[in-house]
Amino acid sequence: MEHTCRNCGADFNGKFCNNCGQKFNVPRFSFKHILEEVFHAFTHADKSFLSFGWNLLLYPGKLSYEFIVERKRKKYFNPFTFFLLMLAISLFFEHYQLELAEKLFHSNNEYGRMFNVYGKALMLAFVPLTALVFWLLAAKRNKLLYAEFTVFSMMVTSAYLIINLFSYIIDAAVMLAFRHSFDFKDNLIYLVLVIAYIAYAHLDFQKRNGATAVAGSVFSGILYFALLFLVQVFIIWAVLRHFNGLGTFGMYGIRIGY
Ligand SMILES: [Zn+2]
Repeated sequence: MEHTCRNCGADFNGKFCNNCGQKFNVPRFSFKHILEEVFHAFTHADKSFLSFGWNLLLYPGKLSYEFIVERKRKKYFNPFTFFLLMLAISLFFEHYQLELAEKLFHSNNEYGRMFNVYGKALMLAFVPLTALVFWLLAAKRNKLLYAEFTVFSMMVTSAYLIINLFSYIIDAAVMLAFRHSFDFKDNLIYLVLVIAYIAYAHLDFQKRNGATAVAGSVFSGILYFALLFLVQVFIIWAVLRHFNGLGTFGMYGIRIGY
């Protein structure tokens, strides 16, 4: 029996639409259905938000290689959606951490708040910038396009945002438990961790592309962090200018201000 697809209007036989893949039998919404959809979106198999995040954190090279080079575009949760959701979640958690610090230590961090918002906006520019570096570094060894490295950089940056999120959670937990600001991100260990992680992601991705260069991956990690630092310094400079140069800002143990 031929059906007309409710989603795209194409005629088809069988359980799924040939044109868009939607099921023939789509029930009306019930509350049971809503709960199932929400539960599904967070937890179900490879395509859920949580399992994608977890896999991306552990295997950034493998996942980006499958998505970009092998073109497995339907296997996982959409990486573009994931990146934007991670930016939104980071914005929310950093805001919470700042509010908590203000409540506990009365540290009115007006700069921090602006930095939080602008910092997330600038990550959108940071992705193609780091991609340019990755692309130029690898240009002679493999034939990937700049656009493909942009997607790689976006996926690696998403994984970096997960690490960042953990540091907010650890800091908030330490603040709540010991009434003491820990700020893991203001630590040299964090710098080494991020560089090592980016190098790992880069090496795994490039190995699958048939290009094995440990030195190049470590260099990529260092450049990634240097660019991240420069972008952040740029925001701080812009924010301080906005406030007529009043105040200082601490980052990775370095105090910036004038
Ligand atoms: Zn259809």
